[in-house]
Amino acid sequence: MSKVFRTALLVGATISLHAFGSFAHAQSNTSSATHSTLFLKSVSQHTGMDLTRLELSADRTFLAHPSLLQRWGIVASDAAAAYNSLTNTLVLQPEMTIDDPVSGDRRIRTLFEIGQAVGVGGTVSAGVILHELSHAEWEFFVEPGVTPADMKLMTTLNELLPSVDIGFFRKRLLPSEVYAYYREDLFFRIMSDASEILLSSGLNPDTMTCNDGVRNPGHLRDLFPDHEPYATRVKLDIAWVQGKDFSLRTNLDPQAEKLNRALFEHANATAHFPQNRLAVFEWLARKPQLVKKIESCASLPKSAK
Ligand SMILES: [Zn+2]
Repeated sequence: MSKVFRTALLVGATISLHAFGSFAHAQSNTSSATHSTLFLKSVSQHTGMDLTRLELSADRTFLAHPSLLQRWGIVASDAAAAYNSLTNTLVLQPEMTIDDPVSGDRRIRTLFEIGQAVGVGGTVSAGVILHELSHAEWEFFVEPGVTPADMKLMTTLNELLPSVDIGFFRKRLLPSEVYAYYREDLFFRIMSDASEILLSSGLNPDTMTCNDGVRNPGHLRDLFPDHEPYATRVKLDIAWVQGKDFSLRTNLDPQAEKLNRALFEHANATAHFPQNRLAVFEWLARKPQLVKKIESCASLPKSAK
């Protein structure tokens, strides 16, 4: 393989871009629990989503911090998170990972640990991690058409995407990015709804401690209940491909709707999750420990006499 072609392939394999830290660390997964197990479990417990396929995909990947991949020349220096499909490596900022005190292995932080490390941006960071894991799921399940739902989605993507004119390398990365951004949006929407419900109930969703200085109701409540299904609430419009935006509405009109519908149907068939905010509420209401914690937060505002 010529050096030029090889370089082009490596550049092409760097799938997504977001800003970045420096410490390097890579490892394989030797135990049954992967670098993603506790993170995915925490997201499932927060939202009611079943992320089994992401766990199975994570089991086939490595975890690294950016500078190692930078040293190999595989990721651009401004990327904070990426999935490299040549090396099956998930590249995450050091603050998104932690040395597990039990196993001693490096792993992705749980939602709670991310909240502690980065504060209010925790849900955004979690969305980015789920985006990168979705690239692995794409590679191991969707693209090879492992289940009928995967095959069906590939048929729709192959029907709609090849005609867009964005250049060879970007076009090659486009389906995986469209997939990962859709999943990120869907997961982020559900996680945000769960966090807002906790906040309405007097609990800080990042620290899971009682809200300070406001009147806490002492029961689970939602100040903005919503019955609209995620099928219509989540609409992917922009996917970033090699640092440039791709607008589904502009480039695929009038087929953007069809693509979103296909992505939702696939998500529904391959990852169980609450279908709307009300279902997220009902999921949270079935957690006795959480309900007890919220009851313990019941309070009057400090200013009230
Ligand atoms: Zn991506």
